Amino acid sequence: MEQRKKKGLLIILSGPSGVGKETVRNRLEKIRKFELVYSISMTTRGPRNKEVDGINYYFISEEEFKDNIVRDNFLEYAKFVGNYYGTPKDKVEKLRNEGHNVLLEIEINGAKQVMSKVKDDAVISFFLMPPSLDVLESRIRKRKTESEELIAERLKKGKEEMAMTDDYDYVILNDKVNRAAEEISDLIERKLKELK
Ligand code: 5GP
Repeated sequence: MEQRKKKGLLIILSGPSGVGKETVRNRLEKIRKFELVYSISMTTRGPRNKEVDGINYYFISEEEFKDNIVRDNFLEYAKFVGNYYGTPKDKVEKLRNEGHNVLLEIEINGAKQVMSKVKDDAVISFFLMPPSLDVLESRIRKRKTESEELIAERLKKGKEEMAMTDDYDYVILNDKVNRAAEEISDLIERKLKELK
């Protein structure tokens, strides 16, 4: 008889805009201690310089996004500094049922929705913390993609998020990308062993 596959781990990675979630995720993928699939979100934000539709995000219109809300297609969604962002529900479920570990890179309101909706044990959540607000601001500025107004809004939102981390399993300091990624990797590995 075919053995039923164990459900994959759902990994939530949050943190203020500019903290370096994507860099840490890329590093995690390179460490390769376990298999990881990144869940591509849908957003109404326009693509930044090098972003590609279907790789960084699915870039869709507000009308399409709202249609997906009505059809209950999101595991979670939130509005963040003027744009909508959401996680496609069916894709995540399918991947997890096939045994893949799935990483969600999402802001705090979406993370809370996932934590209250997904009731199985195979969930682990991380909040990535910048070493300081100055470092965060300079990282956002370095991207050179946002106007002064949007930079200010993202920083304000980031400060709010950094004061609301109680629901996360772990708060990880992103002082150095490699160190932070190693710490997260070790915690995921430990969780995967517990679930065996
Ligand atoms: P950005 O515009 O910088 O790519 O993303 C803004 C914020 O939205 C970041 O904190 C990012 O992690 C978050 N985000 C990206 N995709 C999703 C999603 O599907 N759902 C939620 N709730 N947040 C998301």
